[in-house]
Amino acid sequence: ALKYVQEYRDGELARQLIAAIGDIEGKKMRLMEVCGTHTMSIFRHGIPSVLPDSITLLTGPGCPVCVTAQRDIDIFVALSMVPEVILTSFGDLMRVPGTLSSLQQEKARGRDIRVVYSAFDAVKLAAENPHRQVVFCAVGFETTTPTVAASIMVAQQQGLTNFSIHCAHKLTPPALAALMETPGVEIDGFLLPGHVSVITGTGAYLPVFDQYKIPAVIAGFEPVDILKAVLMLVRQNVSGVPALENAYPRAVCDKGNPKALAVMDQVFKKADTVWRGIGMIPASGLVLREGFNRFNALEKFDIQAGDAPEPAGCACGDILMGLKKPDQCKLYKKRCTPMNPVGPCMVSSEGACAAFYRYG
Ligand code: SF4
Repeated sequence: ALKYVQEYRDGELARQLIAAIGDIEGKKMRLMEVCGTHTMSIFRHGIPSVLPDSITLLTGPGCPVCVTAQRDIDIFVALSMVPEVILTSFGDLMRVPGTLSSLQQEKARGRDIRVVYSAFDAVKLAAENPHRQVVFCAVGFETTTPTVAASIMVAQQQGLTNFSIHCAHKLTPPALAALMETPGVEIDGFLLPGHVSVITGTGAYLPVFDQYKIPAVIAGFEPVDILKAVLMLVRQNVSGVPALENAYPRAVCDKGNPKALAVMDQVFKKADTVWRGIGMIPASGLVLREGFNRFNALEKFDIQAGDAPEPAGCACGDILMGLKKPDQCKLYKKRCTPMNPVGPCMVSSEGACAAFYRYG
């Protein structure tokens, strides 16, 4: 397996790809990745610095924590304050500032908030604590959602009445369409996510591609994978022939993972949802289907949460749309640092500001 990975970290192959990109570039190009793992890999391996100046890599709405609306963060915080609740969350969410507080602050105040690695951990906790209500903060894209759906099926099979979620799941393809429709947003190609595409398959992007005819390439996560996808995007731009291509065929196929898609579809249905910075995107989120309403935390608990403004001065929204780079935010490295984050893009290791701070 190591040999397999090393093939995609091969320095000589990477140099050849960089040279090939250099040979054919010329035209200015703005290429956007929409995947938190790509963000980390691109920064960690210094990929922007080996590309010609004419190519700008933008970080799009691919970090699950970063795209979570302020209102949803406030709901998670409010749920943690319900006395009978054990709130369970991925670690990344803990430090994201809500309007008045964060989960980390609430934990310090004695609320029962526990970091879990999977929604199944939360179901297990519910089974072990029949007299408490266990709530899971459900964020993430198509990569995470099937597991959450499966955990709800398990809770149902076990007859658990003390497990629920607040669902802030998002779907990737509608976000691409929303970006293409946003005035001022200039994108010459999408580096499409690897993990998400393993679940959705290449086919999920076809409607967006057919509508906008934007160069789009699914990429893996090793430096060679990313450079190869960048080369394909550059070639498409130079030739003027956009295509939807898969540069990660060792993991992604056209149809995706039918079992994962089926369990997602069984539990969730599409709904309009608000993305941080971008606003409402039609049919870009998921809600529980009627048959699963008893797992909806908002149905169980009386939580009041209106629309909440994003933190003053935080440019996360513009960054997620490729309109700004982290160092163009006035708070970057001043009031906002990984130790004292103002916005989620500085909290999550997959966030553009955190990656820029660490490697930029
Ligand atoms: Fe928001 Fe901080 Fe990033 Fe500025 S540097 S956009 S305040 S997270």
